[in-house]
Amino acid sequence: MEIGELIYQGKAKSIYKSDNDDELIALFRDDMTAFNGEKHDQFSGKGVYNATVSAFFFDYLEKHGIKTHFIRMIDEKTMLVSKLEMIPLEVIARNRAAGSITKKLPLKEGQVLNPPVIVTDYKDDAKGDPAVNDDLILALGLLTRDELNEARRTTLEINKLLYDFFDELGLVLVDFKIEFGRRGNEIILGDEISMDSMRLWDKETGESFDKDVYRFNKGDVMTAYARVVEKIINWKKEQIK
Ligand code: 5GP
Repeated sequence: MEIGELIYQGKAKSIYKSDNDDELIALFRDDMTAFNGEKHDQFSGKGVYNATVSAFFFDYLEKHGIKTHFIRMIDEKTMLVSKLEMIPLEVIARNRAAGSITKKLPLKEGQVLNPPVIVTDYKDDAKGDPAVNDDLILALGLLTRDELNEARRTTLEINKLLYDFFDELGLVLVDFKIEFGRRGNEIILGDEISMDSMRLWDKETGESFDKDVYRFNKGDVMTAYARVVEKIINWKKEQIK
């Protein structure tokens, strides 16, 4: 597989052309950033952890009927994906109140949100990813009404699948962010699903196993990420027993 021209450099991933026009190559780098890039570090092995977990979840979701851009791994931190026209929206599902929502609304950290809450931010770093509601998504021409309904339904489905999965691992899926893109007439899950884009708390102790460890200096972030990878590997071993 020939890695082609760099076409997009995100905060933690680089996207390259591949030798097929319908496919792209996503390289998960070791960069870690927080607070819109204000905090920035590199952690050896981070790219591999996030690529491994993302690949696992894309595969898991595909097996449960969710369409994703994942094709296959090229190496431990490089993923072949199908090319999508990305929609500049961050779709966030929340099962517990944490992070930004507790700063803006009278919700206590850890408060259960049942039914889960889906919110959307317009992806624009310079503007601080402002929140947008359905009417604004339609006004901005980002999605049609049908696509909006579908994205919401799919996000709730993904949330249920991931929540139940992590529950089995002894973790609470507090919240996560996903992104969708278009392939023809279809809305497909793109980007990544990793510890960078979710909050995971230990069910018993409340300990964080996600980027909050880095954001708020709660300990060694690579140890936390490694624990999630280890739990997933152990889960996989249990499945083949
Ligand atoms: P919050 O709104 O509390 O900042 O984030 C809610 C959830 O979405 C958290 O799990 C957070 O990690 C994720 N999230 C929000 N914005 C971003 C982003 O720009 N990039 C990534 N990777 N995750 C995000």
